[in-house]
Amino acid sequence: MATVGFIGLGNMGAPMAANLVKAGHEVSVFDLVPEAVKALASQGAKAAASAEQACSGAEFVISMLPAGKHVESLYLTQGLLESVPASAIFIDTSTIDTDTARKLSAAAAEKGKSMVDAPVSGGVAGAAAGTLSFMCGASDPAVFDRVKPLLLDMGKNVFLAGGPGAGQVAKACNNMLLSILMIGTSEALNLGTKNGLDPAVLSDIMLASSGKNWALEVYNPYPDLMENAPASKDYEPGFMSELMLKDLGLAMAAAGGSNAVTPLGGLAYALYNRHVSQGMGKKDFSSIFQAIESLRPE
Ligand code: NAD
Repeated sequence: MATVGFIGLGNMGAPMAANLVKAGHEVSVFDLVPEAVKALASQGAKAAASAEQACSGAEFVISMLPAGKHVESLYLTQGLLESVPASAIFIDTSTIDTDTARKLSAAAAEKGKSMVDAPVSGGVAGAAAGTLSFMCGASDPAVFDRVKPLLLDMGKNVFLAGGPGAGQVAKACNNMLLSILMIGTSEALNLGTKNGLDPAVLSDIMLASSGKNWALEVYNPYPDLMENAPASKDYEPGFMSELMLKDLGLAMAAAGGSNAVTPLGGLAYALYNRHVSQGMGKKDFSSIFQAIESLRPE
């Protein structure tokens, strides 16, 4: 069993840390929100008064924070990278920009330390069930081999995508594709129902045909077709539209920094940008169906 310092106990981090406790690891936790620390302590974690305290003596440091600026601030400005012993491995599971992930890996290497970027897919439900997919970027496959068993206590799939930042690139690719699938599924359901089809029948037809995809299978965006989908709960998240917009921004940044052209990703970014600016940021990303449904011909 390992000694783990866990920083960031929000929607994702709290259930992930709880799963590490359940697996028998010694987990010290810190969040800027004291109630979040208390809640984890009541589940068997050690409450820490600072990130430094949570990570002193840790074999692994895990962070699950909102965005790149928070992660950079924790490790560089606040100096957590410096204060933790060289034997520790840093694992950032937040979804952040590739440049910051690479910068942090290089800063760690300069100090003789290892940092792995390991963003996740699977959402809050996957975090609670311990079924997340981790996509990792690591400078050395031997470091990946050391973190994999720990990540498997929070997930069921752990991939090495490549070198530093590669996990973030994989995450940006996946979520760009997910947004396109969700928009496409919404368009098809809107087209069918505006032409007189029953959305349940159309969904069944497409599920048994070549249009089958993840949104139709487990996350149908049409209201009241799928009992547990956000669309049947007034689009309560789930995965918020503003987080999808953030991830599409990361995908656009990755595209801009390479020779990749992403025409559908660009359209998806524009649609989610408009959706969020219309006050739908806190609603589930499948609420893009409502935006598509409300569009009228020019
Ligand atoms: P969240 O806002 O619920 O949690 C973030 C937590 O970090 C908060 O509790 C906040 O207090 C804490 N925090 C921020 N700065 C800190 C600091 N310096 N020290 C200690 N604690 C600090 O966000 P979330 O939904 O848990 O998402 C976290 C990351 O996971 C994001 O990058 C997100 O894009 C990604 N993600 C989210 C989902 C999802 O469905 N929510 C799915 C996959 C990936």
